[in-house]
Amino acid sequence: MKPPRFEYHAPITIDDALGLLVRYRGEAKVLAGGQSLMPLLNFRLVRPAALVDLNRIAALAYIRHVDGHVRLGAMTRQRAIEFSPVVRQHLPLLAEATRWVGHLPIRTRGTIGGSIAHADPAAEYPAVLTALEGEVVVQGPRGERTLRPLDFFQTYLTTSLAPDEILTEVRLPALPAGAGWAFEEFSRRHGDFAIVGIAALVVSDGSRCRRARLAAAGANPVPIRLRAAEEILERDGLSDEAIAAAAAKASELVEPDSDIHASADYRRHLAGVLTARALKRARVRAQER
Ligand SMILES: Cc1cc2nc3c(=O)[nH]c(=O)nc-3n(C[C@H](O)[C@H](O)[C@H](O)COP(=O)(O)OP(=O)(O)OC[C@H]3O[C@@H](n4cnc5c(N)ncnc54)[C@H](O)[C@@H]3O)c2cc1C
Repeated sequence: MKPPRFEYHAPITIDDALGLLVRYRGEAKVLAGGQSLMPLLNFRLVRPAALVDLNRIAALAYIRHVDGHVRLGAMTRQRAIEFSPVVRQHLPLLAEATRWVGHLPIRTRGTIGGSIAHADPAAEYPAVLTALEGEVVVQGPRGERTLRPLDFFQTYLTTSLAPDEILTEVRLPALPAGAGWAFEEFSRRHGDFAIVGIAALVVSDGSRCRRARLAAAGANPVPIRLRAAEEILERDGLSDEAIAAAAAKASELVEPDSDIHASADYRRHLAGVLTARALKRARVRAQER
């Protein structure tokens, strides 16, 4: 199929891109890697009057470690994240999650900003953002906003981004000392979206678990923090029994829908199994560090 007719603009500054979005009064869409938007256009599920292509805005592609955080420009390619030494050192959970994103050609074009703005509940990056309590920076004609995942993701494929705003940066806290991490997911074929995915981070202090962070993808209309499961670990540590209890709690906390890929019951079961697997791998890594 061919996309419907649209006008095309390729600005080289963020200000010019914002000016174009204002000019089209909500009828334009920004184009990042195109890995989700182009299929939507080709199936004519979206019919924007114009595309504002961000690919020539060099100021939107970077990875920087600043003050205990890693800042990633929205147009940073998933492939650049996969191979970044900064990400590998300070955000290994993001590096591991990236290897689950689609296939090599998709990661070569796809961007972190595009994945988060698209807000597919089964996508890996929104779950990592949620687990790590990161932030997104958004710019628009009314200035800049910094949003936490809870204020950003609203429901399936829907965020609080206004049509005249651009997601410009993703900020994630660097891995603390004593931390272990793991991203586990299940999909029917390699490269498919997750049926369920779990992002886990634990910070251990001897036998204690000082901090646990868990988030699920594919198990709710938005990525969700599994707070009550985290509390079990922070109270009882990282023994096999505590991990089993946290995994059982994770299955209770998710509220998945059934669809053609999997039933809600199966997804709930997967949430528990993958939580246990992720926590066991995270525990080993925390002990090694
Ligand atoms: C076969 C296939 C398999 C895939 N498998 C996976 C997978 O397993 N996991 C996964 O997470 N993803 C998967 N994807 C999707 C892929 O990761 C996309 O790259 C991603 O969802 C969108 O990123 P993009 O840069 O391509 O954005 P685009 O497709 O260009 O844009 C997506 C949407 O976000 C908006 N947008 C993009 N950037 C911004 C911005 N900076 N500010 C505001 N709005 C913006 C666009 O207007 C559009 O509505 C797959 C895609 C394909 C085709």
